Amino acid sequence: MELKQKEIYETLKKVDDPELTAVSVVDLGMVHKVSIDGGTVSITMVPTFAGCPALDFIQKNVQTAVQKLHWVMDCQVTFSFQLTWSTTSITNHGKQQLKKHGIAPPPENYIPGDEWTVDCPYCGSAFTSMENVFGPTACRSILYCAACKNPFEAMKPVLDHHTIT
Ligand SMILES: [Zn+2]
Repeated sequence: MELKQKEIYETLKKVDDPELTAVSVVDLGMVHKVSIDGGTVSITMVPTFAGCPALDFIQKNVQTAVQKLHWVMDCQVTFSFQLTWSTTSITNHGKQQLKKHGIAPPPENYIPGDEWTVDCPYCGSAFTSMENVFGPTACRSILYCAACKNPFEAMKPVLDHHTIT
């Protein structure tokens, strides 16, 4: 990878989703493409949960972070709504980060329409139950662990159900 590209990715690894702090936009699988033309950087990103109102913040945070690099004159950030994001785009590092913060990563083998469960991010138990499908944000649910008695949040599974053909 070109040095400048690498620098951009390193910078983006420090930008997180305000609703999922500690997980960078890179680990969330939101960075689709980075193009560099001299001092102009264009970043194409894939929006995550359509219901999350954080896209404006993310756009601004990405721009601010990238423009701090001394060689960057201008940074354009666009979200492509043609591209589809799904929770399977989250990197393994991203999943570890989520767990560290008490948020269960989305289930791996989710079938749309099916009920889903995840393991407890604290003790790993599979004995969890859904408390409230509508969690604190559109993208998270509240679950309860029967083993360690902790309530925890889980990222809702999203598959590319809105693929544009
Ligand atoms: Zn537990």
